[in-house]
Amino acid sequence: MNFDKFCQSCMLPKDHELFKQATESDGAHNDAYCAFCYENGAFTDPEISSAKEM
Ligand SMILES: [Zn+2]
Repeated sequence: MNFDKFCQSCMLPKDHELFKQATESDGAHNDAYCAFCYENGAFTDPEISSAKEM
């Protein structure tokens, strides 16, 4: 089993054309997730954040 090839949150393959590497708040790369799930040191969850902000 090798999960290194996938985002640990959404399982998007890291070699997928849409994959973007996640980043920490200091700009460092986060190898575990894609930028859709985790960005700038925090998880992104459109459903939850949009519901809260409305
Ligand atoms: Zn992801």
